[in-house]
Amino acid sequence: MQFISTRGQVPPVSFSKAVAQGLAPDAGLYLPESLPDLSGYLKEWESLSYAELCEAFFAIFATDIDRNELKAVVSRSYTKFDHEEIAPIVKLSDDLFVLELFHGPTLAFKDFALQLLGNLYASQIARTGNPISVLGATSGDTGAAAIHGLLGKQGVTTFILYPDGRISPLQERQMTCTGADNVFPLAIKGSFDDAQTAMKTVFEDQAFAAEVGLSAVNSINLARILAQCVYYISAFFRLPADKREQVTFVVPTGNFGNVLAGWLVQQMGVPIQGFRVATNQNDILHRLFQTGVYKLDAVAPSLAPSMDIQVASNFERFIYYAEGCDGEKVREIMHRFKSNGEYVFNDFKATGFSSSRTNDSEIAEIIKRVYQQYGYVVDPHTACGFAGDFTGPQMVLATAHPAKFPETIQDAIGEDSIHPSLEALKSRDIVKHAVEPTPEAIKAFMRAHVAH
Ligand SMILES: *Cc1c(COP(=O)(O)O)cnc(C)c1O
Repeated sequence: MQFISTRGQVPPVSFSKAVAQGLAPDAGLYLPESLPDLSGYLKEWESLSYAELCEAFFAIFATDIDRNELKAVVSRSYTKFDHEEIAPIVKLSDDLFVLELFHGPTLAFKDFALQLLGNLYASQIARTGNPISVLGATSGDTGAAAIHGLLGKQGVTTFILYPDGRISPLQERQMTCTGADNVFPLAIKGSFDDAQTAMKTVFEDQAFAAEVGLSAVNSINLARILAQCVYYISAFFRLPADKREQVTFVVPTGNFGNVLAGWLVQQMGVPIQGFRVATNQNDILHRLFQTGVYKLDAVAPSLAPSMDIQVASNFERFIYYAEGCDGEKVREIMHRFKSNGEYVFNDFKATGFSSSRTNDSEIAEIIKRVYQQYGYVVDPHTACGFAGDFTGPQMVLATAHPAKFPETIQDAIGEDSIHPSLEALKSRDIVKHAVEPTPEAIKAFMRAHVAH
């Protein structure tokens, strides 16, 4: 299988190339050149373990990777989860299910993709012999998941920028208490935007990029989307047979990566009823689904920080399909959106989607209500998935473990939420490096610390 760019100005590439590049050279995002029909596989896949299902699914796309190598990469990627089913579902009532995506090493759904991406990188490095340096900027969950996906990988040195003092203490511990010697958390003086701006400039220096084998782990990597497809298929199988085809997946949404993966699974012939895009108060996507107007607004920090986004970077992939796979049209839309901060879709085709918005006081109320009604504690991101009315069965994706947000949980229900892996971090040493948020300072630090 080959992969094409949403902007249609580069030739198709192999799976490994799309994964190594992340962003396509025409600034588009990679997608499969055609979507396979999975309906014929479902019967055979139903009895597979999570890792086996993931391998079977990736085998359709990663056709340039030897099947035994793929099997090894995938099985390594799900060994650090603390639940044998990897992505278990919990039944709260006859028509209400939760898909727990927080059993990975950093207790958030991003582990599903980043554990796999780390092993894909390691396998590529073993094949090519070329070491890489990964540089990322994070405001929280992604950095921790990336670090845990990459730590200890031969030939990979990881640098993650984060705004010092502006991420939660537990998130900081997840990044800085790993004890790994190939991982460098860089605490910068400034905001997340300062970190991101400096990082972008570093990426633009092509000589430097070549010198250190620079690579990115951002949310637009194709492998991340495909890895996330797998748990929708697995959740579908775990539902009672009479509910499967009626279920709406409710997805706490920021960059649109998670819900896009589910939608792709539906487009590939898995008969899922529909999707709800659940936003927090930063509701650009909710407004879009209600009105067809995609309009930037200021980001207001919320109790669900991993959904505090301005531009939903993966949304471009959906636009590509909604606009009839027309790369030129995608370029025009993205260009106009970039220059005007707004794009008005005349006839926005979003069949099968509904949306909701939840502000901070509603998040706290929902955490309390769900706890009282079902004895189940949800984290502030997952809480957004319990907003609004439904008909028919729904499956809410639990994107993080509540123990990552102890203050919010304590305020909402008056009880502590604890997880042993987070407790263990509290006695470990923090190792971080203070770096100025300038491209020069970042490059100098990286040069001094890459593995040669
Ligand atoms: C990243 C994240 C989200 C948002 O997911 P997107 O793929 O960006 O839509 C939601 N919840 C948690 C806990 C996250 O870490």
